[in-house]
Amino acid sequence: MRVVPSICTFCGVGCGIGLRVEGGRVVGVEPQPGHPVSQGQLCSKGWSTSFAIDTADRLTRPLIREATGLRPASWDEALERVAGAFRDALAEGGPGAVGVISCARATNEDNYAAQKFARAVLGSNNVDHCARICHSPSVAGLTLTLGSGAMTSSIADIDEADLILLIGADASENHAMIGARILRAQARGAQLVVVDPRQTRLARLADQHVQLTLGSNIALLNGLLQIIFANGWENRAFLDQRCENVDVLRQHVAGLTPELTSAQTGVAVAELERLAYALSHARAAFIAYGMGITQFQSGTNNVIAVSNLALVCGQVGRPGAGINPLRGQNNVQGACDMGCLPNVYPGYQSAASDEVQAKFAQAWGVPMPQAPGLTSLGMTQAALAGEFKALMIMGEEPVLTDPDQHHVERALRALDFLVVVELTMTETAKLADVVLPAASFAEKDGTFTNCERRVQRIRRAISPPGEAWTDWQILGALAARMGYLGMIWTDAEAIFDEMAGLTPICSAMSYPALDAHHGLHWPCDAAHPQGSPLLHAQSFPRGRGRLLPVSQVAPDECPDAEFPFFFTTQRLHFHYGGGSMTRKSPLLERETPAGLLFIHPQDAANLHLQDGQGVRLRSRRGSLETCARITDDVPPGTLSMPYHFREAPCNILTNSAQDPQSKMPELKACAVAIEPLPPG
Ligand code: SF4
Repeated sequence: MRVVPSICTFCGVGCGIGLRVEGGRVVGVEPQPGHPVSQGQLCSKGWSTSFAIDTADRLTRPLIREATGLRPASWDEALERVAGAFRDALAEGGPGAVGVISCARATNEDNYAAQKFARAVLGSNNVDHCARICHSPSVAGLTLTLGSGAMTSSIADIDEADLILLIGADASENHAMIGARILRAQARGAQLVVVDPRQTRLARLADQHVQLTLGSNIALLNGLLQIIFANGWENRAFLDQRCENVDVLRQHVAGLTPELTSAQTGVAVAELERLAYALSHARAAFIAYGMGITQFQSGTNNVIAVSNLALVCGQVGRPGAGINPLRGQNNVQGACDMGCLPNVYPGYQSAASDEVQAKFAQAWGVPMPQAPGLTSLGMTQAALAGEFKALMIMGEEPVLTDPDQHHVERALRALDFLVVVELTMTETAKLADVVLPAASFAEKDGTFTNCERRVQRIRRAISPPGEAWTDWQILGALAARMGYLGMIWTDAEAIFDEMAGLTPICSAMSYPALDAHHGLHWPCDAAHPQGSPLLHAQSFPRGRGRLLPVSQVAPDECPDAEFPFFFTTQRLHFHYGGGSMTRKSPLLERETPAGLLFIHPQDAANLHLQDGQGVRLRSRRGSLETCARITDDVPPGTLSMPYHFREAPCNILTNSAQDPQSKMPELKACAVAIEPLPPG
């Protein structure tokens, strides 16, 4: 048996694993000793990584749809079908009618290839991925306030903090090794404050749980600012030296009172004052947030409000202090960094800039698209309007994870052509005209970038099953068939080197340099050859930190007479995304039933509902049946469901109302009605 070092693929923490390989198969997983993120440990998901690789239902041959269904085909036939469909769509609708949805689970090399295929081969900026529905507001909001939209600290900074503030983030469920590190820091004396409408596991263990009303984030954050300014607790030296717009923000919140904030948020005045004092007096506050901040129609403004609070307290740019969006998928940071977004090339170089377009046109040997690109939800809306023809989806499962599932299915069926690149036959792949078998992370070389901007190597441990290829091989072969030969690479390292040569924030990175350091944090350039675990110590990328006044916006749908409950979504510790990988593990699968609705005991009593009883949920977009779990994890009047289960796909219910700035849909709040089903 040999052990091949790799990185866990089940969340964005980026723990170091060793793949135990025997007889050409991955037979188990072990923690990488001495890995700086996971420190020789793994969570239960991490220990189950091997189940996602070695499964009986892996796709091993290309499949092509005929009138009778999908049938096996050769790569030659499948690629010709895909190339022909893209050529037809381009002829009929132009570059605006075609696009690519890349994959936050695939490698940086795969994602670099995906956006290069979209721009250099299809001539379109229509490239996006699931960051749209997790942290697109972080990129938009933090770029406006700081000039860079990623974690400003490293995970190790948790150890340096004397206050850890989690806002709308359920770290023990979703980023388990970060959750564990936070608890260790608390045990050593750091204060832990959790701001969340739900009583998460960390909220129960916190020194303070600020249980705000769902969707009242900006009211709370502005109210804290008002208390801080009114008491003179702001960090005046930091504001004078590093920030702009201070008086505008001060005036914006001056009309608030703690009592008004308490009424808007449901948080007692004493709790507001306690948090305002703690944050403004902490030596170093590690501020982390998750989708409880971003997945609202006010997502970008929510992020800006977090940034305002951190800047006013001077809690950024020092060891232990920072603003930290906790990214969900194992390589969602990398997919953004690689330019799989309609508005930026690799390294966040603007797609609207003539200079950037000219740079990539010269490097790639073809003209770059001028027109702005569509987001993933923009592509589905255009498909429903008959204006979008052909789409490639790589390893993503929008049918389960995007809001308003019926809407997504209708949009995918409305396409002239859908090609899906996947490991297994997902709900999205079932709708495809062509399905192409992909190699898993254990079957290829490459890099992932974790949530703290650390770019880390993964290595090929076994051969792909059957005829499966890596994503970049598929894209290169397709590009060649469509007449573009600039995507024929010898190996993943050649792609990485091409990317690093065109991406200033990664310009000093190479595979040997990554190997020597357990990965490197970007920016890693001539000035920072060892990478940059801590950002913004001296200045912000935009110069001064910008304070931007933002105001509370209620969720698009609030409870009313017909739909009297708030509905929100969440994740569970044992599963990941649409469950297509974690549900292959019998160890994880046995931990929780396939579909649950969390409901407060008071609401359950009012409905005469028993624990485990079936319920029907209904929103303005659809209905589903699942079973009730009675718990005070949720407050009265709010229901919550995890989105991992195709048996009870909660995104049938969710709302696709969007944040105007980032196009993030409001997955975290809508209104529903509930009806108990007869017991039994
Ligand atoms: Fe894997 Fe995330 Fe668990 Fe680490 S915390 S072992 S990356 S699932």
